[in-house]
Amino acid sequence: MANVYAKKPITISHGSGAVVYDAAGREYIDCAGGYGTCIVGHAHPKVVSAIAEQAKRLIACHGSTYNETRSQLLQRISQIAPKGLERAYLGNSGAEAIELAIKLSRKFTGRREVVAMMGAFHGKTLGALSATWDKKYRQAFEPLQPEFVHVPFGNLEKAKEAVTKRTAAVLVEPVQGEGGIKPPPDDYLRGLRDLASDNGALLAMDEVQTGFGRTGKLFACEHWKAIPDILCFAKGVASGLPIGITLARDDVMACLKVGEHTSTYGGNPVASAAASATIDVLLGERLVENAADVGNYLKAKLTALRGSHNIVRDVRGLGLMLAFESRFDVLNVLLSSLEMGVLMLDAGRNVVRFLPPLVLNKRQVDRVATVLDSVLQRDENERLPAKASH
Ligand SMILES: *Cc1c(COP(=O)(O)O)cnc(C)c1O
Repeated sequence: MANVYAKKPITISHGSGAVVYDAAGREYIDCAGGYGTCIVGHAHPKVVSAIAEQAKRLIACHGSTYNETRSQLLQRISQIAPKGLERAYLGNSGAEAIELAIKLSRKFTGRREVVAMMGAFHGKTLGALSATWDKKYRQAFEPLQPEFVHVPFGNLEKAKEAVTKRTAAVLVEPVQGEGGIKPPPDDYLRGLRDLASDNGALLAMDEVQTGFGRTGKLFACEHWKAIPDILCFAKGVASGLPIGITLARDDVMACLKVGEHTSTYGGNPVASAAASATIDVLLGERLVENAADVGNYLKAKLTALRGSHNIVRDVRGLGLMLAFESRFDVLNVLLSSLEMGVLMLDAGRNVVRFLPPLVLNKRQVDRVATVLDSVLQRDENERLPAKASH
């Protein structure tokens, strides 16, 4: 296999709820959650049986023919979509959902320029990569798409200077994910909403990571009551099967002619069945509420750890999209925690990130906090020996 993933020393064999097991049967609390895809928990029986039943009936069904399973998913999406976002395109990944957002905004407005944010992550295909900020993903592949401008995330004044009558879209993650779990200032997204409208540009939100209950609301834009013209989501929608969805205003999506954007796998029945089951479980088991409740509990634990460990500089996020920032590289913290049965993610060199399944419970959070307490103590003793001897 191409050597493109920074591998962790673990072979995951199976999972259940918020727990995964390695090949030897050892248990890990999964705060990585399949990079945020596994929102209703691993191997949820309703999702598993929806996938199995659909696979027995029909796996392949191109978008050029109708399918009942796909239309049932579209019905559910229209019930939960933010108001005004009436049309959906079904694709296969987050990056693909963003590609369509870029194409839609260019075609609908007749303009070319996209204003994105410093620190943004929108995926690694060439269009999405043009909106992604980090040099380490971009540099080797330049030149990327022209007319992408980046402004500081959270700074409305700088956005005002950049957004003009030439702007096709303002593209923003409501809470930056890969950029280090950064929520926006309270008036920011509504400010961008007005700014886009005032200039005849579209507001496109990337909810690939924040979407589907992760932040304690179904979509993160609801926290700030700022509704975009285009909304992309992916991770989580089908419990880990490949899917990516672009929602848009009816008139915006209507600018596309037949054939202008399609995908062979898009809207395939198995992913559609998994997504419908995921939505039913998410709503039926009140997992969005659990994300808010257990998220608050985990955030309080992390805040307490900041109080007792010098190397923890900041705690950020909302719902079960949380992070703490260390004064140092976090690789050792991640590896030591893994040895003690807790799987977590990074988000940049010095940020530890939590994207657990939304079924995580408080007892599991207690365990995570206990492990982190001892791992941080060890890291601190090694990094700040003088301090530790007091
Ligand atoms: C993961 C992610 C993407 C890219 O999704 P892929 O499915 O990996 O292409 C885009 N935007 C955000 C905010 C993400 O977190």
